[in-house]
Amino acid sequence: MEKKELTDKINKLKKEKNAIVLAHTYQNIEIDEVADFSGDSLYLSRQAAKTDADIIVFAGVYFMAETAKILSPNKTVLLPNVKAGCDMADKINLKQLREFKAQYPDIPVVCYVNSTAEVKSESDICCTSANAVNVVKSLNTKEVLFVPDQNLGSYVESQLEGVKVITYPGYCPIHHRITTQDIEKQKALHPNAKIMVHPECKKQVTQLADFVGSTTAIIKSVKESKDKEFIIVTEKGVVQRLERDCLDKKFILINEKAVCGSMKLLHLEDIYNSLKNNEFEINVNEAIAQKARIAIDRMIKVNA
Ligand code: SF4
Repeated sequence: MEKKELTDKINKLKKEKNAIVLAHTYQNIEIDEVADFSGDSLYLSRQAAKTDADIIVFAGVYFMAETAKILSPNKTVLLPNVKAGCDMADKINLKQLREFKAQYPDIPVVCYVNSTAEVKSESDICCTSANAVNVVKSLNTKEVLFVPDQNLGSYVESQLEGVKVITYPGYCPIHHRITTQDIEKQKALHPNAKIMVHPECKKQVTQLADFVGSTTAIIKSVKESKDKEFIIVTEKGVVQRLERDCLDKKFILINEKAVCGSMKLLHLEDIYNSLKNNEFEINVNEAIAQKARIAIDRMIKVNA
């Protein structure tokens, strides 16, 4: 099917079924053309919950669809490809979290939203890469356990005085494999470029940044900046969106491997099939969803 025909059919199905499409910033950019909302995962789930849509098609990965379901229990949530998982979320399961907690009794657990519903349900509070520092600060404690991302946890510790962040050894492979040599190489080629780094990168890498922030914060900062050249140290989707939106600026992706394979599984055809066949419905066990919702709501309160 031609792209135009596919887009028209998706839009028609959306109307007929009272459905909306959410597109994560790392998605193939073509999906933005049929998306009702584009952005980071929590923003998308929160926006979807506010609508009166009956169906949410989440162009993202599994844990994101779970979060959407937790925040919209009465809506049908579809993930167009059930194989779209997240290597970071898969680094810790319920049993591993319980073992981790048992090593450090009575210390609150902060859980990055890039985690399964089960892991959220066993945590005290969730956080995003945008609000992690504030969330940890809000606990007013000297020690926290942080799962699953060791790099975000260590970034949070670097931003707070007198708080020990005990991290679980999980990571996002896409960000974790970026090295200081990658930065130095790009900086040598583009000496005037500002270095914009996602806090899922290693400490040595964030230390070389001009700006550290979530994908949304990086995009906002670039758009507001007077600078003209940027080295983007996160997933390729961010570069593609910036190139589309900021025609007067130049963007350099840190390296060609900064691509999340799971995110790139989806194409317009998959969105169409998902809507047409109601595939694939994501459900979360009610007891788990209720507990996970408490951890998410606590985070939202901090940020409110
Ligand atoms: S970029 Fe990393 S954290 Fe994000 S979905 Fe892909 S594997 Fe998971």
